[in-house]
Amino acid sequence: MSDDANNSPAPVDDLFDLTIVGAGPVGLFGAFYAGMRGMKVKLVDSLAELGGQLSALYPDKYIYDMAGFPKVLARDLVRDLAEQARQFHPTICLEEKVTTLTPVDGGFELGTEPGRTHRTKTVLITAGVGAFAPKKLENAGFARFEGHGLHYVIPNLSIFEDRRILMVGGGDSAVDWALHLEEIAKEVTLIHRRDGFRAHEDSVRKLNASSAKVLLFHELKDLQGDGRIARAVVFDNRTQAETTIEVDEVVVNFGFLANLGPIRTWGLTLEKISLVVNPQMETNIPGVMAAGDITTYPGKLKLIVTGAGEAAMAVCTAKMRCDPKASYFPGHSSGSATFEPGAAH
Ligand SMILES: Cc1cc2nc3c(=O)[nH]c(=O)nc-3n(C[C@H](O)[C@H](O)[C@H](O)COP(=O)(O)OP(=O)(O)OC[C@H]3O[C@@H](n4cnc5c(N)ncnc54)[C@H](O)[C@@H]3O)c2cc1C
Repeated sequence: MSDDANNSPAPVDDLFDLTIVGAGPVGLFGAFYAGMRGMKVKLVDSLAELGGQLSALYPDKYIYDMAGFPKVLARDLVRDLAEQARQFHPTICLEEKVTTLTPVDGGFELGTEPGRTHRTKTVLITAGVGAFAPKKLENAGFARFEGHGLHYVIPNLSIFEDRRILMVGGGDSAVDWALHLEEIAKEVTLIHRRDGFRAHEDSVRKLNASSAKVLLFHELKDLQGDGRIARAVVFDNRTQAETTIEVDEVVVNFGFLANLGPIRTWGLTLEKISLVVNPQMETNIPGVMAAGDITTYPGKLKLIVTGAGEAAMAVCTAKMRCDPKASYFPGHSSGSATFEPGAAH
């Protein structure tokens, strides 16, 4: 693939063709695709690093459903998405939360929390679930163990090496983490309050074949230790029988609470916490597209692969708005011929 003629990012105060709000996987792929389409593009994110949920919540987790990768570490996928996007030298602004969207002269001004204004012809919102925070244990007394053996996200797998781990939860995340940690930990116990997991069948099959000890119908009652977690008391919710387990680390996977924050106030049509888009990924405001976890439409799947496809469509819609003579379909990146319907090939 040929590099962009202009090989440094455009000054931040320029007028951009497309400004992308959110530099998660979908925003990063959108930046790449906009570069492919010859657009002047800027990425803005409130976090200090690229990658969205992948960097903030599960950098050391394997992703198994990425097209073309039997498995890929989240942090490696972010690295490669960033490298792919950077081929076209997008302007990147980190640690800037976009708070306002104002239509101006056929384009938009985006205001950010440090007080900067970004000028752009079109906008692509790839803000995921907005600001996200893990759901925590209800017992407020357990907060004293956060940073001392109690974890709600896993920033670095190495801290679990050779440790005794209690995993709490029954979703994909709990099952996947149990499988990952089982490879490096001394022992892994997984408790879940029901009898069935809300996880992929294949992951559950692997879990049952692994060395992880699975306790169904079990819940966490108490965490004990002097400054640091040393024991967890769990109970069988059918019989109330209690068991004390010696543990070094407790990982809680109850999912995440999402907060769209300022995006709610931009006059966009919402369905719960998602932006409603049409098949070209346009929101109700002409010139404002959305893609990835933040969007909803019939048949929506909140996955990285689908988000990447949506980003490509959103960028093509933005391209036509910036350049009405441009076609929606840009051709293939490999430069192959386009096929006529019905032609033999
Ligand atoms: C533990 C876990 C495991 C997962 N495993 C998989 C998996 O195996 N396969 C899969 O396909 N998906 C998986 N997912 C889901 C996947 O991570 C999401 O589908 C994906 O991250 C969505 O990408 P996105 O770019 O739309 O949003 P995000 O990754 O959420 O990125 C959005 C970005 O927008 C930024 N942002 C939000 N609001 C603003 C604002 N106002 N101003 C500036 N920036 C803003 C955020 O800081 C964030 O960086 C998993 C999710 C979790 C939590």
